[in-house]
Amino acid sequence: MKVIIGKGSCGIAAGANEVHDAIVNEVSKLGVKVDVSITGCIGMCYLEPIVDIIDDKGIKTTYVNVKPEMVKEIIESHIKKNKKVSKYMISKQDKTILERQKRIALRNCGLINPESIDDYIERDGYKAIEKCLKEMNFNDVIQEVKISGLRGRGGAGFPTWFKWDATRKATNYPKYIICNADEGDPGAFMDRSILEGDPHSVIEGMLIGAYAIGASEGVIYVRAEYPLAIKRLEKAISQARERGFLGKNILGKGFDFDLRIKAGAGAFVCGEETALIASLEGERGMPRLKPPFPAQRGYWQKPSNINNVETFANIPWIFIHGGKAFASMGTEGSKGTKVFAITGKIRNSGLVEVPMGMSIKEIIYDIGGGIVDGKDFKAVQMGGPSGGCIPSHLIDTPIDYESINKTGAIMGSGGMVVMDETTCMVDMARFFLEFTRKESCGKCIHCRIGTKRMLEILSRICEGNGKPGDIELLEELGTKIKEGSLCGLGQTAPNPVLSTIRYFRDEYEKHIYDKK
Ligand code: SF4
Repeated sequence: MKVIIGKGSCGIAAGANEVHDAIVNEVSKLGVKVDVSITGCIGMCYLEPIVDIIDDKGIKTTYVNVKPEMVKEIIESHIKKNKKVSKYMISKQDKTILERQKRIALRNCGLINPESIDDYIERDGYKAIEKCLKEMNFNDVIQEVKISGLRGRGGAGFPTWFKWDATRKATNYPKYIICNADEGDPGAFMDRSILEGDPHSVIEGMLIGAYAIGASEGVIYVRAEYPLAIKRLEKAISQARERGFLGKNILGKGFDFDLRIKAGAGAFVCGEETALIASLEGERGMPRLKPPFPAQRGYWQKPSNINNVETFANIPWIFIHGGKAFASMGTEGSKGTKVFAITGKIRNSGLVEVPMGMSIKEIIYDIGGGIVDGKDFKAVQMGGPSGGCIPSHLIDTPIDYESINKTGAIMGSGGMVVMDETTCMVDMARFFLEFTRKESCGKCIHCRIGTKRMLEILSRICEGNGKPGDIELLEELGTKIKEGSLCGLGQTAPNPVLSTIRYFRDEYEKHIYDKK
C-alpha cells in the first residue's frame, strides 16, 4: 500500500504539508507497512491538496481537497477497513480532464517522486541519453530532433534542431548549454511545475542537447522566486552525479558533462537570451543587439545554446519514442503538444498539456470546465504581457503558432488568462502594460519612454479622464515602440493594448466619451 501526497507549490499552498503530517501520524497508528511518498503537481491545482492511495494491486484512488481533519477517516476506512471514502474522492468529471490531455513534457509530473532518481529511472529515465551515447552520433541526434519538428516552447517557437545545429557548427570551444527557467509571465507556471515535478527530465534533455552540440558545461538559470524548484533541481543534480549521469566519462562513453544552477534575481527581461547571458556573467541583465547570436558568441563569448524548460523536458521522450511519433501529433507547422497554465475566470485552473491544434474552446470548456459561475467567456490573454487577447468570436482558433499569430496574440510560453463578461479590457491592458513598463531595462528610448507614455494615457482613460484622440495616440505609440525597440520585451509590450483596441475599441470609446 502506498500513499502519495501532491507537494508541488500549489499543493503546499493549499495545505499539503499539514495533510502530509496528519497522514504520517495516522499511518503510524495502523501497525501495517504503508509507504508514504510525495509527488509534484498533476495540473489540477484547484483540487489540491490531492492524495492518492495505491493498493497492492496497483489500483489508484484519488482524494481531493483533502484537509488534515479528513485524514483520520480516509486512512482508517481506506487502509484499515479496505473501504473507500467516496465523498472525498475525485469526481468522474474531474477525472476526464486528464483523459483529454496528451502528456509528454508532463509525463511524470504528479506520478513520480521528484526527489527520487529511482522513480525517474523506473519510467524510462536516462534511457534516452544511454541510447544517444551508445547508438547515435551528434548528427543523428540533431536529425532526430529535426524529424520531431520540435519548436522552442519558451515563446518564439524557433526550430530546436536549427539552434542545436548552429551551435554544433560553431568552431569555438568550450561550448555551453543553458536552460532558461526564468519564467516571469504573470499567470504562467509551466516551467515551475516541471522543475518541481520532474527535474530529471530537464537534466536528461540538457544532457542530450550537450552531446549534440559538443558542450561539456551547462547552466540552469532559474528564478530565485522558485525555491522549491531550485531545491529539487539541486537534489536531482547531485543524484545524477552519484549515478554517473553527470560528470566525467558518462556511462563509460567518454562524454563529459556537468551542470550548475544560477538563481536569477527576478528581472523579467532576463528571459531574453542575451540579457540572460549578461546576467550569468555577473553583468546587469540587459539585452544586446543580435547578431552575433548566442550560437556563435554567447556565454563568455563562446557558442551557447539556450532552450527553455519545456523544450528540454520533451527531448528524452522524443528519443525513447522517436521523432516521428512526436511529429505525428499536432498540426503541419506546430508538432507535438504544448503545456498551458490556465488561470483567471476559469473553473478548473491549473496546468494542461494538449496536442497542438486543439481549439481554445476545447481547452476552456472541455478541459477547463468553462467560466466561473456560468458567466460568458469574453476573451483570453495568450502569451502573457508580450501576448495579446483573443476575443470570444475567435474561440474556435486552433492552438498552433501560426493560427495564434494571426489573431494578433502569440503562443508565448503558455500562459492563458481567461476573462469573463465582467472584465474591463482597458483595465486588463493597463495591468499588462504596467508590468512591462516596470520591467523595461531602460536601454532604448522607445521602450523606456514609450511604455511610460502609453501607461499614462491608459491610466487617464481608466480613471475617466480620457481625451478624444487618445486611442489613436495609443495606436501610434504602440506601433512605434514595436518598430523601434531592441528586444522582444519592447517589441511585444504594446500587444495587449493594440489587440484590445482591435477587438474592444468600443470599450475604450465608452470610457472616453460615455462618462456617466
Ligand atoms: Fe531594454 Fe526595452 Fe530596449 Fe528590451 S526593448 S533592451 S527591455 S529598453
